[in-house]
Amino acid sequence: MKAEILRLLKAESRYVSGQQICERFDVSRTAVWKAIEQLKKEGYEIEAVRNKGYRLIQSPDILSETEIESMMKTVWAGRRVIYYGETDSTNIQAKLAGENGGAHGTLFVADRQAAGKGRRGRSWESPKGVCIYMTLLLRPDLPPEKAPMLTLVMALAVADAIREQTGLDARIKWPNDIVLNGKKICGILTEMSAEIDYINYVVTGVGINANQDKFPEDIKETATSLMLEGGRPVRRSELIAAVMRRYEEAYETFMETGDLSGLRERYDELLVNCGRAVRVLEPQREYNAQAKGINSQGELIVVTFEGEEKHIFAGEVSVRGIYGYI
Ligand code: ATP
Repeated sequence: MKAEILRLLKAESRYVSGQQICERFDVSRTAVWKAIEQLKKEGYEIEAVRNKGYRLIQSPDILSETEIESMMKTVWAGRRVIYYGETDSTNIQAKLAGENGGAHGTLFVADRQAAGKGRRGRSWESPKGVCIYMTLLLRPDLPPEKAPMLTLVMALAVADAIREQTGLDARIKWPNDIVLNGKKICGILTEMSAEIDYINYVVTGVGINANQDKFPEDIKETATSLMLEGGRPVRRSELIAAVMRRYEEAYETFMETGDLSGLRERYDELLVNCGRAVRVLEPQREYNAQAKGINSQGELIVVTFEGEEKHIFAGEVSVRGIYGYI
């Protein structure tokens, strides 16, 4: 109910009377007063005026279940939020929930991660209070070999949500990074638990560099944040809700065909590698090629300089620009 009251106050620029809130949610005056007091403690500035009611004056860029749920405009994706001030990694928490009956669409969000992860055991730099770390738990009715495509579905949702919320030219670096001006602003990591022919659950984790103003030495050449690029801070809860709305839409399109045929055109429009020379790093060898776009399975289509077309599966492969990260 707290999230619903917050949602109501956010929607109204005028005072909302206590009576109105009581009737709307069928609760007592005392319950409303208590919820308002809790919201104030969490950092919302709420004015209470006798005979007029309550008015939200300011809501800070804080993350909490109430704040995120109050922004959500989806039917199922992220309607239930589990929030941690600090946790090891939201992927770990989502996987635990996956093992223990957690529902499809539950979103795990943290303000800080002590052990943020990237692909193949790499780490993800996860400072407190400025970024977005979130993982969506899914139980898709799909054969397990299709699960890696969900990374691309999320990449598309994140890129489009960032573009919509900030106006910045966010692009996708195949398969799982979002980049801005040649630097990484977001990484995505999908993990799954499956039997041979069915998926128990999939988790897709997203780390977005929202408001950092500096980076550690080892990544400062390749990493940036939305604030550094856009010149102003973003409201994290708003961006989380925008990603979920885009994701829900893209996921429905994906599930209609069980592949990326309905999303491929948009993905290629945002693909930073498209039409460019890339260096393909396979575990056993490296070669240069020209990237053409993705196929409906989410593989990157490249043409080698000998003219041979290859379809690259993301698994063990990384793609770089021939002179640098992009
Ligand atoms: P590749 O770039 O080879 O495709 P990847 O996509 O597999 O790599 P990820 O697993 O997505 O990489 O991300 C982990 C890597 O990203 C780390 O090795 C580090 O270099 C870099 N990194 C870690 N934290 C951040 C961050 N907050 N912002 C940007 N880059 C980061």
